[in-house]
Amino acid sequence: MKKPAPRKRLSPKEKARVAALFERFQTLSDDPRTELHFHDPFTLVVAVALSAQATDVQVNKATTKLFAVADTPEKMLALGEAGLTGYINSIGLFRNKARNVIALSRLILEKHGGRTPTRREDLEALPGVGRKTASVVLNELGIEPAIAVDTHVFRVAHRLKLSDGKTPDKVEQDLMAIVPAEALTRAHHWLILHGRYTCTARKPKCGDCQVRDLCPSRELFF
Ligand code: SF4
Repeated sequence: MKKPAPRKRLSPKEKARVAALFERFQTLSDDPRTELHFHDPFTLVVAVALSAQATDVQVNKATTKLFAVADTPEKMLALGEAGLTGYINSIGLFRNKARNVIALSRLILEKHGGRTPTRREDLEALPGVGRKTASVVLNELGIEPAIAVDTHVFRVAHRLKLSDGKTPDKVEQDLMAIVPAEALTRAHHWLILHGRYTCTARKPKCGDCQVRDLCPSRELFF
């Protein structure tokens, strides 16, 4: 498991702002969840692997039919790459994703006896599963608090001045260092959902934003 990020020193004012921000998110939604459909670690890994450069809605549409016929590594292998492609060809990068999902199903069967691994290093060793995918899976399964930084989290973290990192890795480090410990497992979802529905890329809805009073960027978008 990755070492926890050292707590970052914030001024008392900033510390209070960040604490108030995550308390507010908690009040607004106390149990945020991924919008991807899954029912066990295998279907979660597959859904997250399919979701790169695709919306959760697109992925759910495909996996509803896919998981009805192949929701285990054995069934996925039996379906094969060509069969799988038929279910996911509406999703970006589907050829690569089909190849990876078949390869990771084979590895889970051969190396892990058919049980999807839940240790970070084993997950990251699966074809097509990088650090971000592993973080989403581990966080969602409640195994390791992690904040996977996608485009929404990156943008919202900057606008809320939680990080000025230039890369997703740096933003992740900053978030892991300042998000209050009790909010760590849910922070990823709060920031994604906030970015998806309120703090949108082009026209953030600052007028309706429930954390506006805690956001240093609110004036920029009025
Ligand atoms: S006030 Fe505007 S910029 Fe700040 S978090 Fe809300 S929507 Fe985003």
